[in-house]
Amino acid sequence: MGSPVKRSVAEHQRAVLAALEPLPARDVPIGSAGGAVLATDVHSRTPIPLFDNSAMDGYAVRRADLIGAGPDHPVTLPVIADLPAGTSARPQVGPGTVARIMTGAPMPPGADAVVPVEDTDAGTTTVTISAEPAEAAHIRRAGDDLAPGDLVLRAGTRLTARHLAAAAGAGHGTLAVHPKPRVAVISTGTELVDPGTAPAWGQIPDSNSYLLAQSVTEAGGTPVRIGAVPDDESEFARLLAEVSPDVDAIVLSGGVSVGAFDVVKAVLAPLPSMWFGPLAMQPGKPQGFGHLADGTVVFALPGNPVSVYVSFEVFVRPGLRRLAGDADPRPVLVDGVAEVGWRSPPGREQYMPVVMDDGAGGPVRVRPSARRGSGSHLVGGLAGADGLARVAADVSEVRAGDTVAVLRGVS
Ligand code: AMP
Ligand code: MG
Repeated sequence: MGSPVKRSVAEHQRAVLAALEPLPARDVPIGSAGGAVLATDVHSRTPIPLFDNSAMDGYAVRRADLIGAGPDHPVTLPVIADLPAGTSARPQVGPGTVARIMTGAPMPPGADAVVPVEDTDAGTTTVTISAEPAEAAHIRRAGDDLAPGDLVLRAGTRLTARHLAAAAGAGHGTLAVHPKPRVAVISTGTELVDPGTAPAWGQIPDSNSYLLAQSVTEAGGTPVRIGAVPDDESEFARLLAEVSPDVDAIVLSGGVSVGAFDVVKAVLAPLPSMWFGPLAMQPGKPQGFGHLADGTVVFALPGNPVSVYVSFEVFVRPGLRRLAGDADPRPVLVDGVAEVGWRSPPGREQYMPVVMDDGAGGPVRVRPSARRGSGSHLVGGLAGADGLARVAADVSEVRAGDTVAVLRGVS
C-alpha cells in the first residue's frame, strides 16, 4: 500500500455523525431540563387557563345591573365577597350584587363581567361603579390558550426559558429529554504544566484542556476536565480505563501524529473500533475517532491549539450535539467577503481563524485574526477570532473580495 488516501472533512464529519446516536432519554425535573433536547412531544394536561378568571383587579358583576352606568349615572351595589387570586371560594353573585375580585381569581358563578377598580370608588362593603362594562369584559376564558391534549412542544426542541414556561403551565413537572453528554477532557504532553505556574525550560502551559472544557459547556455538554497527563503509555491507558465508566465521551488532545512519543495513537490505534488517519484539512490533519471497548466515544484531536479549536468546531461540537439529541447538528455557515487575501494549502480544506465585521446591513467582512499568518500554534491570535473561514480544498489562494463560507464562533 502507498501512503493513505486522506479523508475529506465532509467524509470525516459524516463518519463521526453516523457512529453516534442520541443518548437514551430520561425524565428530569423541568428545573434541570433547560438546554436539553426534548425526546417526546409534550401535550397540555389541562386547559390553559385552567378556569375562567379575572384579567383585572376590580369587581365581578352582572352586566345587566350596570346598563347605562356612567360618570353621570353611578350605580352603587353591595359587595358580597372578596376574591383574591388563589381563593377556593365560589360565592353566588345574585342580581344587584358584586364581588370584589383580583387578577387571576376564579370568576364567581352568576357574574358575567369584570369592572376594573379604576372605574369605581374601590369600596369594600358597597361599591359605586361609574362605567358600563362590555359583554364578558375582562374575563380570561378557560382553554383560551390551549385545550387539554393540545401540542405544546415538539420532540427535538432544544429547551429554552419559554419552552420550560409553556411546559410548566401545561401541567408538566418533568420532561423526557436526552441527557447532556458528560465529556472528559484530557491533554496529553509531557511538556504541559498548569497555566499560571512557571514553566521550566521546554515546558508550556496546557491551554487545550481549558479550550475544550469550555467548548463542551458551550456545546451543551457537561465537561469533566482531567487536565494534562504525560506521554506515558501505561499511565495513559490506566487513566482512560478509570475515566471512561463515568462519561459518554472523551476528548483528547495531542499525541495523534507520527512523533516518537505519540501516546494517544500508540494506546488507541490497536483498537479495531478506533480510526486514525490524516484528513485533507488545515489545520487539523492528524485525527482519531471511535469508541473504547466499553462504548465510550473518543475524539483524538491533534495538539496544536488552533487545530484543537478547529477540530472541536468541525467534528466534536456536531458529535456532542448528536449525542444530545439534535436532529441536524452540522455547523451552520454564512457567507463572508474576504477583506484581504491569503494562501491556502492545495488539496486541503482550510479553516482560517478570522475577525468578522458584520457591517451595517451589508455582507459580513472577514480577515485572518492572527497577526503573523495561520500557524496552528498561534493560540494568542485565537482570542481575536470570531469565526473560521472555510476555504475549499481545490483553492490555493483567497483574493480580497472573494466570498468564503464562515463558521461563526460562540460569542
Ligand atoms: P502533539 O500533537 O502532541 O505533537 O502536539 C503538537 C503541538 O501542540 C506541540 O507543540 C505541543 O507542545 C502542542 N500542544 C500539545 N498539547 C497542548 C496543550 N494541551 N496546550 C497547548 N499546547 C499543546
Ligand atoms: Mg504531544
